Amino acid sequence: MDLQINNIEVVYHKVILVLRGVSLDVGEGAIVSLLGANGAGKTTTLKAVSGLLKTEVGEVTDGSIMWGGKHIENQRPERIVRMGIVQVQEDRRILEHMNVEGNLKLGPCAVGKTDAMKQDLDMVYSYFPKLKDLRHRTSGYLSGGEQQMMVIGRALMLHPQLMLLDEPSLGLAPLLVQEIFEIIRTINAEEGTSILLVEQNARSALEIASYVYVMENGRIVLDGSSDKLRENQDIKDFYLGLSEVGKQKSYRDVKHYRRRKRWVG
Ligand code: ATP
Repeated sequence: MDLQINNIEVVYHKVILVLRGVSLDVGEGAIVSLLGANGAGKTTTLKAVSGLLKTEVGEVTDGSIMWGGKHIENQRPERIVRMGIVQVQEDRRILEHMNVEGNLKLGPCAVGKTDAMKQDLDMVYSYFPKLKDLRHRTSGYLSGGEQQMMVIGRALMLHPQLMLLDEPSLGLAPLLVQEIFEIIRTINAEEGTSILLVEQNARSALEIASYVYVMENGRIVLDGSSDKLRENQDIKDFYLGLSEVGKQKSYRDVKHYRRRKRWVG
């Protein structure tokens, strides 16, 4: 099924306008990435899709979110999970006192889909063999990377058609980021799960996604195929730090980031 976000506006607490005119598509089976600096509105976009906005007194006040042709804006999160969309949140929400397997079982238990628990666990362990070894370990003692694997595995237990991933690379060593992105790619290929990936790590995002949107101040300012965006000067300067040979730039170092309303490559 396709996800279409059409021109949405999102407001928190009835007054704080955070997203303005955001449009974004994720085709069936695609990996699409949403890039942007801190506070640009990436997480808010994911929460608008998953319904988690509601838990933060946020609301889609204009535009629409269509999933397989049906309106899903402002629906309850449990309902959206049942429709096949699962969000993996940035802060790796885990029950620390519970072991790994207990955490993995949480999703299916919450939505009452426990009939195939054993097969589902085996499926998750096939993607994350490390989790199988750690299955009796108390989750609070896992490393950041292992916890990230666990929360992705937990989402996978629900057999989502669309997985919303919020910065899976956050705080992880580069090798581990590579490993996790490789697993995401395999899940996409083998399960056919569409992926909407929020990232600040542009290099990884451009590598894994076929299409990329760039967000700034609650708007999409750039979008295009990864191949096109890799060649885009703004992206090179601002996100990849490639314009000065051998010198990595930070956002603040880039003085000439040219703002554009919308760029279609
Ligand atoms: P980050 O990478 O830091 O998570 P982001 O691009 O995901 O950034 P959001 O978390 O969506 O950005 O935040 C966008 C804006 O919305 C920020 O200005 C933030 O302060 C504001 N915001 C987020 N959540 C809430 C909330 N629950 N209530 C009020 N304002 C919020």
